[in-house]
Amino acid sequence: MASEDLIHLLPDSVANQIAAGEVIQRPASVVKELVENSVDAGATSIQVRLTDAGRTNIQVIDNGKGMSETDARMAFERHATSKISNPSDLFALHTFGFRGEALASIAAVAQVELRTRREEDELGTVIRIAGSKLESQEVEMCPVGTNFQVKNLFFNVPARRKFLKSDQTEMNNVLAEIERIALVHPEISFAVYRNEVELINVPQTTTRQRIQHLFGKKLGQELLPVDVETTLVKITGCVGIPESARKKGAHCFFFVNGRYMRHPYFHKAVMEAYAHLIPASEQVPYFLYFTVDPSRIDVNIHPTKTEIKFEDEQAIWQILMASVREVLGRSNAAPSIDFDVADCPDIPLFAANATTTPPAAPPMPKLDNSYNPFRQSGQDSYKRQAIDWDKLYKGIGKSTLGDEVPFDDVPTEGAAGIEVHSLNETNGFALPPVSEDETISGSVEASVTDCYQYKGRYIVTSMKSGLMMVDQHRAHIRILYHRYITQLSRQRSTSQGMLFPEMLSLSVSQAVAMEHLLDDFGSLGFDITNMGGGSFAIQGIPAGIEGLTPSALVEHILADAIERGDVSKEEIHRTMALTMARSAAIVMGQVLTMEEMTRLIDELFACDVPAYTPDGKKTFIIIDEDEVSKRFR
Ligand code: ADP
Ligand code: MG
Repeated sequence: MASEDLIHLLPDSVANQIAAGEVIQRPASVVKELVENSVDAGATSIQVRLTDAGRTNIQVIDNGKGMSETDARMAFERHATSKISNPSDLFALHTFGFRGEALASIAAVAQVELRTRREEDELGTVIRIAGSKLESQEVEMCPVGTNFQVKNLFFNVPARRKFLKSDQTEMNNVLAEIERIALVHPEISFAVYRNEVELINVPQTTTRQRIQHLFGKKLGQELLPVDVETTLVKITGCVGIPESARKKGAHCFFFVNGRYMRHPYFHKAVMEAYAHLIPASEQVPYFLYFTVDPSRIDVNIHPTKTEIKFEDEQAIWQILMASVREVLGRSNAAPSIDFDVADCPDIPLFAANATTTPPAAPPMPKLDNSYNPFRQSGQDSYKRQAIDWDKLYKGIGKSTLGDEVPFDDVPTEGAAGIEVHSLNETNGFALPPVSEDETISGSVEASVTDCYQYKGRYIVTSMKSGLMMVDQHRAHIRILYHRYITQLSRQRSTSQGMLFPEMLSLSVSQAVAMEHLLDDFGSLGFDITNMGGGSFAIQGIPAGIEGLTPSALVEHILADAIERGDVSKEEIHRTMALTMARSAAIVMGQVLTMEEMTRLIDELFACDVPAYTPDGKKTFIIIDEDEVSKRFR
């Protein structure tokens, strides 16, 4: 056989499509690239319109400098850019774009219509390109600026289209990209419409105001200004007061030289500044803007990556930590903290008279060991403990062992319960395999008669095969989870009206998710009304969680649901049930009576999977008889 040369160059359309795979992954990437181009073009007003979360239509309209006829055509060529020309420019970037890849990539995987005019031109240019093929180029009357319309994203790449997630998730991603850009450009007004409904409309303003417009007045009031300048770095922006800390969904943003970045290492620096002020498991919101010499960072790692490498990382870590700490000290940030103390009982209170230095010796935590959550009269500084045990069990029938209701009729679940259902999903609910000897049947435990509470945390009791230690907090999580999941699957729960409705003020992306979840919140016993403009009124809460702060709980559930993204109804239910269970469960340090301890154990073993919490932590351990006698040898 005559040997033939096999290698040839790929046609541009194919090369562009391959490149697009890197840059354009979802509607949010298109929005990001187009909006960044608008910013680079000096726009003072940018409008984004989406249909079907951007699947069928994305439109970005700006009042920037526009393009000439030739530039409009050139803009779609790969490596065509007006933003850099020399290799050295790469190290002094002042624009978002520089690769000249975005438009070529978008045009390779969608149907694009560009309308643009410069101020000095009388007529504008309209170009239509689909799948990298130029379909038409005309001269037309149009306003100054640029108007991109991107239709049917991935129309020619079905595999990619399939990869897209629910509208809800795609929309969240789009909004997140817009938030990131809007936060660095308060001098530009932004409007976002989804299916013709206005979601965001923020005027030209200051950074501080922009944060409030995007995330609500309440957050705006919880921020402290940061402003430091050293030879290495200038840091401006703001950080939350300790009271703004939350377990999930805190708005944490870093920007460097006008670009959003993720930086886990610097995140730790901020959190370090709050050490002893907030529980270790919580986060505070922050919006921090770094300015550094562009030659000392590398933004070039990957077109879609938001990690950025700093040459002076360690030095900046120190500066950042010290600056935030100083801001907190100066503002006397934390005179009274009333936190949710689950799993974290020792939060030293920040000295009220602290100046710029952190307190030398952390004040001792105040724990009232005599507090009994089962007694109705209990009043304590820890809100979560004011839970009425009896109410927690109202509505689920007598729930001692052997009762038929209601745990075993959760629909669609196998014999081993909900957890097995989610075993092979990487959703955080995966349950470790239960080994033979850990699977205790209820009958064994029915004999629990005598208990002892160890360290206010574990319930010790003897059983046939040995000594059992139950983690009271985790056991209660398991029990409550069971209760909530049952209520959710039956759409039935008791709601308790609130005397004074609590207002929630949510960011746009949170509000979008909230609407989606309103029914589920309803099933749980929450009575929440959409007041418009990101405000929601909580008017009723599930019976039995009266001691908790409803807004914090709702925000937490919401953040959890957003973080987990695209999930089925059942998974949302699991998230909600677990979040509520975690918040409502008795904490360690709570003294229990004998009756309460035996009841807790009874309830635990009435659950389908008593040995583990829904997120896979052991609820009890057994030290078997052999082990005990071995110790005495
Ligand atoms: P890059 O932004 O990396 O230069 P793009 O493919 O995103 O590459 O854009 C190519 C070029 O098209 C830009 O360099 C710019 O000159 C021009 N351009 C794109 N969008 C706009 C816009 N909205 N207004 C004016 N010019 C634009
Ligand atoms: Mg660009």
